[in-house]
Amino acid sequence: MIEKRQFYIDGQWVDPAAPRDHAVINPATEEPCAVISLGDQADTDAAVAAAKAALPGWMATPVAERIGYVEKLLEVYKAGAEEMAQAMTLEMGAPISLSRSDQVGAGTFHLTNFIRAAKEFTFEHSLRDDLPEHRIIHEAVGVAALITPWNWPMNQVTLKVGAAAVAGCTMVLKPSEESPLDAILFAEMMDEAGFPKGVFNLVNGDGAGVGTQLSSHVDVDMVSFTGSTRAGRAISKAAADTLKRVHLELGGKGANLVFADADPEAVKRGVLHMMENSGQSCNAPSRMMVEAPFYDTAVEQAAQAAAAVKVADPQQEGDHIGPVVNAVQWGKIQDLIQKGIDEGARLVAGGLGRPEGLNKGFYVRPTVFADVTPEMTIAREEIFGPVLSVMKFDTEEEAVRVANDTPYGLTNYVQSTDPARVNRLTRQLRSGMVQNNGTGRAAGAPFGGMKQSGNGREGGTFGILDFLEVKSVSGWAAE
Ligand code: NAD
Repeated sequence: MIEKRQFYIDGQWVDPAAPRDHAVINPATEEPCAVISLGDQADTDAAVAAAKAALPGWMATPVAERIGYVEKLLEVYKAGAEEMAQAMTLEMGAPISLSRSDQVGAGTFHLTNFIRAAKEFTFEHSLRDDLPEHRIIHEAVGVAALITPWNWPMNQVTLKVGAAAVAGCTMVLKPSEESPLDAILFAEMMDEAGFPKGVFNLVNGDGAGVGTQLSSHVDVDMVSFTGSTRAGRAISKAAADTLKRVHLELGGKGANLVFADADPEAVKRGVLHMMENSGQSCNAPSRMMVEAPFYDTAVEQAAQAAAAVKVADPQQEGDHIGPVVNAVQWGKIQDLIQKGIDEGARLVAGGLGRPEGLNKGFYVRPTVFADVTPEMTIAREEIFGPVLSVMKFDTEEEAVRVANDTPYGLTNYVQSTDPARVNRLTRQLRSGMVQNNGTGRAAGAPFGGMKQSGNGREGGTFGILDFLEVKSVSGWAAE
């Protein structure tokens, strides 16, 4: 059993103020795989105090030096890639091949992009070329609390730590209590990279405890949060009294508009994207909306693609999917599948219960519902499991109206070979991101949502800007 009860505060590994053991469950076996400690107010206060004390020195550190620390971190991160992949597979059940490629790879990608973006970013400049005495200084927001989820753990941690570090913020990270092992390993990497003490701190804990303590802390200047819309609301309320900056990356219910002229791989691609990471992605294309003339064919293709998705032990190499993260999520997904059946959707792949041959572990059958209508629960709620809803539309106007009829606005997708249509719809879809015809996201492209999917943007220059204040100076003295 792995035992990792300590927190990383002020450049050292320290015992919790009061022990409070928490078992980390391996979702593939349903057995505990590690013990951590959940922190409390005294731990939170110590970490925030360390971050506050380190702030002036870190802000005054030249940007090139701050970038240098992130470059060193990237080197250490790459060297520890296998250990990191193993940690994520163990605690949240991503298949090891996916952990090695996409889960670990996301961290490499983001850190690399931040290094480049920070080198290109002008942190100080004149308001206008002809106004040298009027100056803009982009400076750190201050002490940043970083609260992260378990589904793409290193993706989220590096998106926040990389940006905060180059911006000059000091940090307290509280990772998800479901996936603390990768974050603890990451803290060891920060230590090895040599960041000055107090710049980065880690306290484990749950939402009600350390999460709330950080959100309401008077010495925390900003919370950067990724997770559920429910927790986003709680954090916003907890942060209100201190009026700190609150950056939210929340849930989604992405529409994938598939037109009859879509490329032949469009449906299969949509299904595989939905099933990736066992459907546990905020930007999953969970509502496949298909133009009427192509609908029956698309349903058949979707059912076939889902039936071909294998579910297996995450320790095995290969392109199968693993379990979902925990018993609560498994139960919630089963309830929603049952709701889909009860409300009259047509099950064309998967369904209730575990896949054949898997009697233990939080495994879910890759599931596709056809004939889903906009008012059904499975068309409205984020399921966060490998469950796709297929819906029919007749006109472009109807497609846009239904796609936008959701409180969420994270990523929408368009599949069509008509360029004018693709661009017209892109403008009409209310989401922070639109991805068309299988085009992947570019390095440094901003990630974030509209409406109840959140308010910030992560990655590249946009991600750095979220950790910066704009200081407007009048009377900058010529030297
Ligand atoms: P969650 O909201 O339960 O937990 C996320 C983190 O918030 C954890 O660290 C948790 O301890 C903490 N937390 C929970 N309640 C809190 C509170 N009241 N105050 C402070 N902190 C609190 O979410 P989850 O189940 O870990 O993650 C899944 C959710 O995250 C999904 O809804 C998904 O769509 C969303 N997500 C969004 C993005 C994005 O960028 N938009 C990315 C990944 C995941």
